[in-house]
Amino acid sequence: MIKAVLFDIDNTLYGYDAAHAMAWEALCAYVQEHLHMDRETFTRRHREAMDIVKERLGVDCAALHDRCLRYQILLEKHGLPLHHALTMSELYWDTLIRSAEPTPGIMECLPILKKAGYILGIGTDMTLEYQLKKLTRLQMLPYFDFLVTSEEVNGEKPDRKLFLTCAQKAGVAPEECLFIGDSLKKDVLGAKNAGMEALWFAPPPEQAAMHPETETIYHYDHLTKKLKCLDFSRKTC
Ligand SMILES: [Mg+2]
Repeated sequence: MIKAVLFDIDNTLYGYDAAHAMAWEALCAYVQEHLHMDRETFTRRHREAMDIVKERLGVDCAALHDRCLRYQILLEKHGLPLHHALTMSELYWDTLIRSAEPTPGIMECLPILKKAGYILGIGTDMTLEYQLKKLTRLQMLPYFDFLVTSEEVNGEKPDRKLFLTCAQKAGVAPEECLFIGDSLKKDVLGAKNAGMEALWFAPPPEQAAMHPETETIYHYDHLTKKLKCLDFSRKTC
């Protein structure tokens, strides 16, 4: 029986892609004005800085998502004033968080799940601070009983540690958890590998067709029905 419903955040609870596009625009305008760097040059240098961060860290961890770190490296590498790192990071995150819109249906779904008695949790890659800011802006935080971030467990999805810590915090067995996320590899296969049930949220239809064994959900209106199906038959309804 499913007792805990766990969610990824980005592109699951809100539209990351649209919010990121707005934040990236703001960042490009800033570097054009203050660093006299055109969009193409900035995009290339940003990618290089990300590669350096990844190589230096050596493992997938929350610091990979630290934008201030990658801006610092970009500025150092090109002999530019370091004070821009903090401004750029704040500009990016402030714009993204301000632009974040809840996924259709989720704001109706969360109170229904809560009222039905499910334990609600978050399992997410990233640092806690910005994930808390996103959930606060989206007015979702009051519905959740706990969060587990890759910062907290020092391992990114699909690391089992992150999923097992979710189950531990929920106080239930992994098989009593349902994990919902937009990434097949990170969310769905990661959760299943930890012994949980999983739903793939809104995958591109052509990708979903390549994985008919994976249960999908395209709108949160259908989640309560899916939960009933899992409890009654452990199979697709
Ligand atoms: Mg995601």
